[in-house]
Amino acid sequence: MGVIRLLDEHLANQIAAGEVVERPSSVLKELIENAVDAGATTIDVTAEEGGLSLLRIVDNGSGIEPDDLRTAFQRHATSKIATGKDLFQIVTLGFRGEALPSIAAVAKVRCVSASDSSGLGRVLEIEGGAIKIEEDVSAPQGTDMTIRELFFNTPARLKYMRTVQTELSHLSDVIYRQALAHPNIAFTFAHNGTTLVRTQGNGDLRQVAAAIYGTAAAKAMIELSAEHPDYSIDGLVAMPVETRSNRNAITVLVNGRYVRSPAVVQPLLQAYHTLLPINRYPLAVLNLRMHPTLVDVNVHPAKLEVRFSKESELRAFVEQAVKQALGTQAYIPSGSAVR
Ligand code: ADP
Ligand code: MG
Repeated sequence: MGVIRLLDEHLANQIAAGEVVERPSSVLKELIENAVDAGATTIDVTAEEGGLSLLRIVDNGSGIEPDDLRTAFQRHATSKIATGKDLFQIVTLGFRGEALPSIAAVAKVRCVSASDSSGLGRVLEIEGGAIKIEEDVSAPQGTDMTIRELFFNTPARLKYMRTVQTELSHLSDVIYRQALAHPNIAFTFAHNGTTLVRTQGNGDLRQVAAAIYGTAAAKAMIELSAEHPDYSIDGLVAMPVETRSNRNAITVLVNGRYVRSPAVVQPLLQAYHTLLPINRYPLAVLNLRMHPTLVDVNVHPAKLEVRFSKESELRAFVEQAVKQALGTQAYIPSGSAVR
């Protein structure tokens, strides 16, 4: 008799959760990505106690059909890719079909969703992977996800959580990146009853930057825009009068996805070169577009890292584009209104 057997689905989900769900902010990132993929124009986020006791994400996107709701929480269940070919040209933020089952394996989840404006939707409640309630309810179109008591059944993971303040700063970071990535979506973020972020959703990136970094910083940012046969870039880079002591205010977006990419950040810093005081970093939002076959997003469980197929060309392009932006427009220190 052999000793090798397949893990049951619940155990497999808990293991996947260990990779996908590191802390409350990873849950938030996955759920916002789902709302973005669903075409939402408003995303309202509420958190309590750094997201450990409660995280709620309400969107007005396409919603989930009542008969699909249970399936959405199954492992490898996705509406976003169907064939192996799709994997090499991903146009959505999600594609692995892992987030919902992973989150539901390690938290108490309530999902209310409706896929049209008939007012008819469905609610599903899952605790630690076990379905508790599934019934029809009246609901507006969109999806309303409430995640309570994250890691309630994985005490070892819970022990690693830091202070509320630290978890909150991770949550805020996710909101900032997503708001900068999607100026067309109106975001709100409230923590313990206080609204911390509110963006208009009118498509104006500078207004989003002002909401996050303040009006002075937003004023010091100049527009960047360049084209290449394989890539395009646009966004904002700050004149070196506004700097930070770390790289946190550098946001790199590839086809709308926030990524950590030295291949983009290094040429950005190179373009500033001697303009920056030592150990100071610029504020920047770099929005890169390229054909999906030129970037592999399937290299990291949280999809935070990507691989570019023509990396050295890309580096040269980014450096050139930033240099051009920094060189072509003089910084006007005062009197210029934030548009
Ligand atoms: P993935 O995003 O990789 O497809 P998820 O586990 O995050 O996997 O979600 C599973 C499926 O549930 C998605 O493919 C989508 O069809 C549906 N879904 C999840 N969240 C939402 C949402 N907010 N709005 C509409 N559909 C959603
Ligand atoms: Mg997803």
